[in-house]
Amino acid sequence: MSEKDKPERKRIHATGSMKEIMINYFHELDSASNDPNDLVAWCTSVGPAELLLSFGFKVYYPENHGAMLGTSRMATGLIPVANAIGYSPDICSYLTSDIGSFVKHESPMLTNFDMKEFPKPDVLAYNTNQCRDVQEWFSFYSRKFDVPLIGVNAPDKIDNLQEEHIHSNEGQFKLLVEPLEKISGNVYNEGKLKEVIRLSKNCTELWRQVLETAAHSPSPLTFFDGCIHMGPAVVLRGSQTAVDYYELLLKELKERNENNMGAIANEQFRLYWDGMPIWGKLRSLSNLFSELDTCMVASTYCNSWIFSGFDPERPFYGMAKAYTEIFINRSERIKEQYIENMVKKYNCDGVIFHDAKTCPSNSNARYGMPERLKESGVPTLVLDGDLNDLRCYSEEQSITKIQAFIEQLQGNI
Ligand code: SF4
Repeated sequence: MSEKDKPERKRIHATGSMKEIMINYFHELDSASNDPNDLVAWCTSVGPAELLLSFGFKVYYPENHGAMLGTSRMATGLIPVANAIGYSPDICSYLTSDIGSFVKHESPMLTNFDMKEFPKPDVLAYNTNQCRDVQEWFSFYSRKFDVPLIGVNAPDKIDNLQEEHIHSNEGQFKLLVEPLEKISGNVYNEGKLKEVIRLSKNCTELWRQVLETAAHSPSPLTFFDGCIHMGPAVVLRGSQTAVDYYELLLKELKERNENNMGAIANEQFRLYWDGMPIWGKLRSLSNLFSELDTCMVASTYCNSWIFSGFDPERPFYGMAKAYTEIFINRSERIKEQYIENMVKKYNCDGVIFHDAKTCPSNSNARYGMPERLKESGVPTLVLDGDLNDLRCYSEEQSITKIQAFIEQLQGNI
């Protein structure tokens, strides 16, 4: 298809504000890192960010950097650098590309945001609610920078979430207070924590509403848009900046719905994406689905930054609940129910499962779920690939599979 014949994809106007916000975030991180009076913490994406913010740390998220390495396609060249120092090609490719980037001193942060160095941490904080890899990943940096590593080891793969699960996790969050007081030199301030959680809760609630605009047909945004616009929810939750941004974005998407303006020109099919994005192929996949008149309306991934459990009045309990009940930390049965509900809620014609080679924790095609959904009448397709290691992804094969899947949906009409 020539460029001229390609269906139009509509630009989200709020994108400009989002880019500005993200640039400011990195500049502030850089100046905090270079100011001996400022504090910097590294945190896993679904880690104890609110607690760190309440102590005055600027928070840096290496997984966000991993996604930048994937999107910029620098990752594939950096992964072997980490492999060479003993980190297996089979483990998380965020981890290997990030460590490779650090060792080689090559990063979009350094080139795009004028940062001279990676942010220097005063503390590293993880939560194993997503996987074990994050703990090993942060251990590398704890040794490199000689700074404390603290964290929460969440009960995992939970079926029925019980109060006991939450309370055990709540206790672990409370245990972080003493080391954070020592490292920061600041005394724990409950009022401040409640305020940060209130802002995080507002951010998460607005992000949920943003994603739910896609229940409208035609959908005003795609999964691929969501992967870009989730940036502030990931790195700036707990701030008024993120709240203001999602109010702006939500307003624009509601206007689109009022005017029946879809994200793609001619929405014929609606799909659900499960699993990690293939960061280096976001644009080409977005174009491909758009050309096939198919809108990827919802995903497990973008919904992972909805933390309904936050409760400003019970800060530790709420954090423990919000970060324990997340999808990735649940049993196969709960995950399957969740996807079935999402398919109904967003009126999807099928589900695409991305089986990411280096992220078993966020790949749900390995224990028969696509087959079971098919039996219950939901068409499914499994794409083999990876979040960052493009050597695990065959573009040609994937395009053929996707085209055949859409033809099959056309046959179902
Ligand atoms: S969940 Fe997957 S992508 Fe995220 S840190 Fe763990 S292995 Fe890496």
